[in-house]
Amino acid sequence: MLSMNSQGARVQVLLVEDDAMLGDALRTSLVASGMAVDWVGDVPEARLALIDHGYGAVLLDLGLPGGSGLAVLKYLRARYDATPVLIITARDRLSERVQGLDAGADDYIVKPFQLDELQARLRAVVRRSRNSVVSALRCRDVVLDPARRVVTKAGVEVTLSASEYRTLLALMERAGQTVSREQLEAAVYGGNGTIESNTVAVYIHQLRRKLGDDLVATVHGLGYRIAAANGS
Ligand code: CA
Repeated sequence: MLSMNSQGARVQVLLVEDDAMLGDALRTSLVASGMAVDWVGDVPEARLALIDHGYGAVLLDLGLPGGSGLAVLKYLRARYDATPVLIITARDRLSERVQGLDAGADDYIVKPFQLDELQARLRAVVRRSRNSVVSALRCRDVVLDPARRVVTKAGVEVTLSASEYRTLLALMERAGQTVSREQLEAAVYGGNGTIESNTVAVYIHQLRRKLGDDLVATVHGLGYRIAAANGS
């Protein structure tokens, strides 16, 4: 079954599309073909969904309210996330298509398109991506696997809330560097909503409790730091 991955689970697709009619038609079509679909309509929502879930593919409209879908793609690739991305572009936007491919899109499809062609393209990028490997992030005995959204300590899986996971990921991606409270807030909230001033401190406290007191160092007045894998 092409809609199944190698483990036999349904392929999870993140659909990023602000047009209600098109989004609804796409979701219906993909679900009917056996895929599971999460549908979001803007860049911040897409970023948070990508942090919290391991998707088999992203179907990405470039014309989004308040920003281009290219921002989502660049965000993904900047984190070395190799999730396959199929971009949806308008017929007259050739430069966008080129930018999308340059930014790491796997393929594109031009509006208007037939739903069965879209499904075929999507299955193709999923198939091709099965050979790629996303490497895990490590700090001492703590391992974060971004592809599976799993954190282990000394080989034992540790359950983190979504906000704790996002905080840890932001720190481990910048291991050896000091990460400011503002950077961590942006990682947790995707630039959305108002934030209580001590929120990040609470997540850090929880991470220390679950993963070890000395995992995250406080850099007074500047932020927080996790040691690089080589111990720096
Ligand atoms: Ca659009």
